[in-house]
This record gives sequence, structure tokens and C-alpha cells, in this order.
Amino acid sequence: MAYASTNPATGEVVAQFDSINNATLDLLIERANDAFQSWKDRPIAERAAVVGRAGELMRERSEEFAKLITLEMGKLINEARGEVKLASAILRYYGKNGGEFLKPKPLQVPGGEASLVYAPLGALIGIEPWNFPLYQVVRFAAPNLVVGNTILLKHASINPQCALALEQVFLDAGAPEGVYTNVFIESDQVAHAIEHELVRGASLTGSDAAGRSVGEVAGRNTKKVVLELGGSDAFIVLDGENLERTIKAAVMGRMANTGQSCVASKRFIILESCFDAIRDGMKTAFEQLKPGDPTDESTTLGPLSSANAVKGLVEQIDDAVMKGATLITGGHKIDRRGNFLEATILTDVKPGMRAFHEELFGPVAVLYKVKDEDEAIALANDSPYGLGGSVFASDVERARRVADRVETGMVWINHPTSSLPNLPFGGIKQSGFGRELSDVGIHEFVNQKLICTLPPDGQLMGAGG
Ligand code: NAP
Repeated sequence: MAYASTNPATGEVVAQFDSINNATLDLLIERANDAFQSWKDRPIAERAAVVGRAGELMRERSEEFAKLITLEMGKLINEARGEVKLASAILRYYGKNGGEFLKPKPLQVPGGEASLVYAPLGALIGIEPWNFPLYQVVRFAAPNLVVGNTILLKHASINPQCALALEQVFLDAGAPEGVYTNVFIESDQVAHAIEHELVRGASLTGSDAAGRSVGEVAGRNTKKVVLELGGSDAFIVLDGENLERTIKAAVMGRMANTGQSCVASKRFIILESCFDAIRDGMKTAFEQLKPGDPTDESTTLGPLSSANAVKGLVEQIDDAVMKGATLITGGHKIDRRGNFLEATILTDVKPGMRAFHEELFGPVAVLYKVKDEDEAIALANDSPYGLGGSVFASDVERARRVADRVETGMVWINHPTSSLPNLPFGGIKQSGFGRELSDVGIHEFVNQKLICTLPPDGQLMGAGG
């Protein structure tokens, strides 16, 4: 029983599903390839209409989806509603704009004409995480379905019901059988799928360890891969103007999704002039968070996705404290049923402590005091990750200069890193490579094919090579 919905607020197992074996997986891959043969020849407008309709259906089923998300991974119900809204918006965005993004690009050629056309590749496998069970999937599936690729989707083993509900949305929107297929496979079967000759590419959103494993198999088999991995975003504060707003943003940046976001603000790098005020403000806000049932709208601190997630974070916190870090607040599992961890603030974190370089995937903020802008930038860049980040300052030009020197895929000024359908999303370094969303994301799994036309009696230019 590899796939199970376990309510993180209670520990109760509410549904279980068997994994399929490799022989069944092969049949589903063949079916995805068969579906590709006709899906790719449908007019783009028809494919885009199916994707847009999936977005409408998701919107109609908002409450059902939100409840499933909360049940399976513990997201606060209002945040779950927000995720459904964003996922539906992404589907509708590609439904509306996908055709435009895929228009051939005209190019110059002496004595003739040329264009770059965007042709689909075939069946792709997506491997997705539980932290945003809908949003992560549609970031990959929506653009690729418009392109004409077909999708095999291996979702996280803790949210099987979200996985099935997503598959149903695409079927109900009119995607023919085999165009979008949920596959309940174990993570060690992913290599088998990538190695299959009919699978033309792979995209993984998840931990850096999973990314390395998928990247290695894809590389060995010369398959295109996109990796959206972990992050340890810096939240740089350059001055104490708008203090209240900055503290509110810091709490939001760290605590959204109970801290389980790749682009959560994880390292707060604060100039010394305003360090104490921000630390105290965050401490007060963290201590006011109210743990409880995530389906109750008054709860402000939800459970983590699994008991293991709590255990792992407590180990990271203990390691830091044992090596000399200061615990400003929190630091412990909450003594109640379910996977609850106190909202935690650490200071005096130094190289050599796990919390300095590792990702803290939960409600744990690390605060650093720095003397100037250069020290802030050096610390922000002293990370194996390079996903997002943010800079807070009353002088927007100054913040912009700092943003230019931060080595990540995304930097937001005066707002924690966020996501919208039309903004490219992705990172560098151990955070992976490739981009999702916007017009950039739709061009990852396409054959950017050059077609060059010269007149039959035109002058010969010479062969290339
Ligand atoms: P994870 O353990 O890597 O799992 C993600 C997906 O990969 C799941 O479907 C998982 O399957 C599968 N998987 C795990 N190990 C694998 C392997 N060796 N080979 C193939 N597939 C494998 O990550 P997670 O703990 O669920 O998610 C949290 C991580 O994702 C964090 O590091 C977070 O920062 C990152 N993340 C990144 C982004 C981004 O856009 N950059 C967005 C969200 C999350 P099972 O569930 O069956 O193990």
C-alpha cells in the first residue's frame, strides 16, 4: 500500500491505494504515446480549449478540491482555497494564451524565409510533491497539454486523492484517454519510466536528492529534464521604515503553507539598525499563532504534512541549539494529536550548523544581523540554493541594486517571493534548472524546430556543420 491519505491533524489513515507494477506502467506509457499521435495533430485551439475547460471545472469544484488538500497534507482551509484559485487561473491562462505563445517565430535568411516552429515531443513524465498538490501539477501539465505533449503524472504518495481528482478534471474537460494519466508508482519506478523509449522528457518538483536521482537517469538516457528543487530564500531588510508591514511580510513569507514552500522566506538577513525591532515583532506574531484543526477557519498554525517532517525539523533545530544557536521562541513538537511544530525563531546560526546551509521546510525562521548591504548580499549568496528571495527597503532603487546582486532565479522587492501564472518560476544552483509558468515555461518541452525555405532556383549558400 504505497499511496495513502493520512490526515496530518489526527494521524488517521483515511484511504489507501495500491501501486501499479512496471508491466502496467509500460501499458500506460504505450497508451500515452498512442494518445500523443492524435493529440498532437489536433488544432492548438482545441487543445487549449480542453485546458481552459479544466480550469473552469476546477473552479466549479473549488470547495471539494480545497477540502481534499487540507485532508491529505494539512494546509489551512483558506490557503487551500487560495491554491485552488491559483491552479485554476494557471489552467485558464494557458487555455487563453498558449496558442499565442506557440506561434512560429519568423527569422531572417538571405534570399528566402525561415521560421522557428514549436513542435511537441511526446509523452512526458511529471513527478510532483505534496506541498501544493494542484498548483505544482498544473504548472507542468497545463502548458504541455497545449503544446501537444501527453502527460504521465506520478504524484506524491501522501496525496493520492488529489491526484485522482486532478485526473478526473482533465477527463471531464474532454482530454481523450491517455492524454493525462495518473500513475501510482513508487519513487524507485520513476527511473523505469524515464528510461522507456516512448517517454521523451521528465520534470520533477521536489527535494534536491530526488532531483539528482531523476537528473542522473535523464542524463544517462539523453532525455530533457526540468528540475524545480528546494530553496532557502533570503529575506533581506535594508531599513526599518514601514516596520509593521515588513514584519507582517516576514511572518507571511515564513508561515504560509506552515512554512512548507520552496520559496518561503527562510533566512532573514536584517541590517543591525532594525534587527531588534523585527526580531521582537516576529516573535510576538509567531507566539500568537493558534494551532488547531486546519479545516477550522480560525486556526492559524496548521499541522506539518507528516510525523517525519516534524521529527526532521526538530533534529535540525536541536543541532543548531547544541552548537550554540539561540532559540528565541518555539523549537518543539506541540503536545497534541497530529504533526504540529511550534513556530520557531533561531538566531546566532553559524556555518557548521545544519540550519546554516540546509533547507528548513517548516515554520522555522533563522534571523541574521548584518552591518551593511555588502554583508547582507554575501550572506544571501552563501547558500547551495538559488531559488527566490526578497529585498525590503524604502528606497526601491537601492533594493533593485541589491536584487541585481542576489544569485537566484527570482527576486521580489518589498514582497516575499510569490507566484502568478504570467511570471517565470525556477531557480539556479541546487534549486535546479528550467522554468515553469509564463511564455517561458511553455517552451521547455518543445522541439524548437527550424524550417528554412529557399526558392528552387535560388543561389546555394554552402553546407553548414
Ligand atoms: P520529495 O521527497 O523529493 O518528493 C517529491 C516527489 O518526488 C514525490 O512524488 C516523491 O515520491 C518523488 N520522489 C522522491 N524521491 C524520489 C527519487 N529518488 N526518484 C524519483 N522520485 C522521487 O520532496 P517533498 O519532500 O515531497 O517536497 C518538498 C521539497 O520540494 C522541498 O525541498 C521543496 O523546496 C521542494 N519544492 C520545490 C519547488 C520548486 O518549484 N522549486 C516547489 C515545491 C517544492 P513519493 O511521495 O512516493 O516519495
